[in-house]
Amino acid sequence: MIGAPDGQSDNPAGIAISRLTCRTGSRIITLSRWVAERDKKGDLIRILESNNDITERVRVQEEVRRANQDLEQFAFSASHDLQEPLHSIKIYSELLARELGSNLHPDARRYLEYLRSGATRMETLVRDLLAYTRVGQFEEPAETADANEALQAALSALSSATAEARARVTLDPLPTVQVRATHLQQLFQNLIGNAIKYTSPDRIPEVHVAAKRQKLQWDFAVSDNGIGIEPEYKETIFGLFKRLHTSDEYSGTGIGLAICQRIIDRYGGRIWVESELGKGSTFHFTLPVQMDAVVGPSASPDRQG
Ligand code: ADP
Repeated sequence: MIGAPDGQSDNPAGIAISRLTCRTGSRIITLSRWVAERDKKGDLIRILESNNDITERVRVQEEVRRANQDLEQFAFSASHDLQEPLHSIKIYSELLARELGSNLHPDARRYLEYLRSGATRMETLVRDLLAYTRVGQFEEPAETADANEALQAALSALSSATAEARARVTLDPLPTVQVRATHLQQLFQNLIGNAIKYTSPDRIPEVHVAAKRQKLQWDFAVSDNGIGIEPEYKETIFGLFKRLHTSDEYSGTGIGLAICQRIIDRYGGRIWVESELGKGSTFHFTLPVQMDAVVGPSASPDRQG
């Protein structure tokens, strides 16, 4: 039995999944649902029940789950094993350029530079793909994370990019949430990283991070005054490898927002963007409130960030 009457409602209902062996010996899985109808005095009139054979549906679901697991394992192994040869290509092309560079024809020096920058781009791609597949691999229950600490860790990893962009980052106090700290840091790092990358050349980049409590979840917001996003791409950009610009305009792999989407899916939250082209964007994501805060009196962020 996976559901039962709560004793509170006028018409109690139930739902059950059963594994049965038929007379023929074959095994089936059934989904049963029932609802009890009462009259105004509360006396039971009848019980309505439906039983469906869901054996095939469960089998297909299980097959899809296994295929996804295999694909994930393949992507993880492939990207992991690619790191080593890529590193060698990069190191040896750098060595060649350094030790023999002055004797080489200018064309050969240019080719070596293509080799090195290609390997560097691929290294970034492989690193991001690994980060993407790793999000799908954790099984442990969520821990509690202080969003202020995760944000500080993300800002420190982004410190040189922030300084280079001369970006001004302002923060509101943030809460503690029921997620893994590394996931929260990844979310901030990707969203703030984008906010200081997709900036408009005619104004100082400004980024603001805030959080607002909404019943059982926190709504986080990362806002910028950058180039903005056209309305028709507001959902596309969360897909794997989806980019709105070429690498010459803005560097990137198109994996960052897909990682964010994956993390948020894992916690049953939502991620979306509100944006005005040419004016800026606000990326929102929701995460569950810390369990003991659900019954606690405070609905405001825990401490200053
Ligand atoms: P990457 O930045 O590596 O291209 P992402 O998955 O992080 O990949 O982002 C996907 C695309 O969404 C980006 O290529 C960019 O076009 C767009 N985008 C993301 N963040 C912003 C932002 N803050 N402002 C404008 N465009 C953005």
